Amino acid sequence: MKILVINAGSSSLKYQLMDSVSHDVLAKGLCERIGIDGRLTHKVPAKDLKKEFEIPMPTHAEAIQSVLDALVSTEHGVIADVREIDAVGHRVVHGGESFAQSVLITEDVMKAIEDCIPLAPLHNPANITGIRACQSVMPGVPMVAVFDTAFHQTMPEKAYIYALPYEYYEKDKVRRYGFHGTSHRYVSARAADMLGKPMEQLKIITCHLGNGSSVAAVDCGKSVDTSMGFTPLAGLPMGTRAGDLDAGILQYLMNKYGWNIDEALNVLNKKSGVLGISGVSSDFRDVESAAKDGNHRAAVSLETFQYSVKKLVGAYAAAMGGVDAIVFTAGVGENDAKTRMAVASGLEFMGVKMDEAANDIRGKEAVISAADSKVKVLLIPTDEELMIATDTADIVGR
Ligand code: ADP
Repeated sequence: MKILVINAGSSSLKYQLMDSVSHDVLAKGLCERIGIDGRLTHKVPAKDLKKEFEIPMPTHAEAIQSVLDALVSTEHGVIADVREIDAVGHRVVHGGESFAQSVLITEDVMKAIEDCIPLAPLHNPANITGIRACQSVMPGVPMVAVFDTAFHQTMPEKAYIYALPYEYYEKDKVRRYGFHGTSHRYVSARAADMLGKPMEQLKIITCHLGNGSSVAAVDCGKSVDTSMGFTPLAGLPMGTRAGDLDAGILQYLMNKYGWNIDEALNVLNKKSGVLGISGVSSDFRDVESAAKDGNHRAAVSLETFQYSVKKLVGAYAAAMGGVDAIVFTAGVGENDAKTRMAVASGLEFMGVKMDEAANDIRGKEAVISAADSKVKVLLIPTDEELMIATDTADIVGR
């Protein structure tokens, strides 16, 4: 099946046309500046082709139409007719407690996604706009929603409940949801394949370390805990996000500097994390090179990040009563051998033994632990688009 995967943001839209059987990416690209002017970058991997266009995109509907035009173009297209697209898979950030799995989009599903808007006020409206735009230019084509939160819906109550008055969970749905679920699900399934064991026999800790980072405990194929929470601000320090912190700090700084809550959250979301501590950059490559040049704050920011990941690995091994495999994925996890080594070193007591030479690798599936390591350590590049395409093909093909 040919599946169009759509990831719609408020002013941008990423797409991939994939063959769900061969897993080939036929074309992919990005619409930017939707609602402003409009720019399309279209790539055809098989031909190593990249084209850029300025196309007016007053709304997401024009953006989707420009994607379809690019896909069928005689010059740089990859299909002869839009009707060759069998289905569309949409990334949707928040499914709340309504969705534990991907689902065929119906009007009832759209209503449920709309009901989740208060939980993800920036993301869900953009995802909904993307779905509506696709429906308008591709009427009759089946569409599937794949949620970032769905994989973590298997967490037990003790893991997702916050120690607040229970009414805020019951009335207001305040609980841990977790994010990056599509990535944690994909890499944990790949890990089972690589280890040649059924998921039902494995305890896996998946470390998705990118600009945004989260760790998940996957027991018998089910997420039983994860570090992001009610929002993606929780857990690890990230590129620019603070991660977990003492809520009392907010009161102290807001009083001291006269910030309102939006100003405070702006600091926590955009000016903190590795950027905030280092003062250099949110990009780990820049921070690593500054640390190498002797910048103390840069070095501390990396150590804080690595230490936080290591603590979660220990915590999740305790939560599951053991661990068979630790997986590294996403921009930092896939490319940064030093970070992987720093996280895994010192965990020899729990059976983790790295192979330094095997770890000297980037962006490829590999076992990076020593042959006699009790716990296997794996590098697995994530592929959320493939997961979305596979779910979409499965659901539409039923
Ligand atoms: P996002 O959360 O935006 O999807 P990615 O998973 O693409 O993020 O990760 C992006 C981050 O990966 C960059 O900010 C950068 O810090 C990091 N990264 C990419 N390549 C390397 C590398 N070779 N060494 C260290 N960090 C890297």
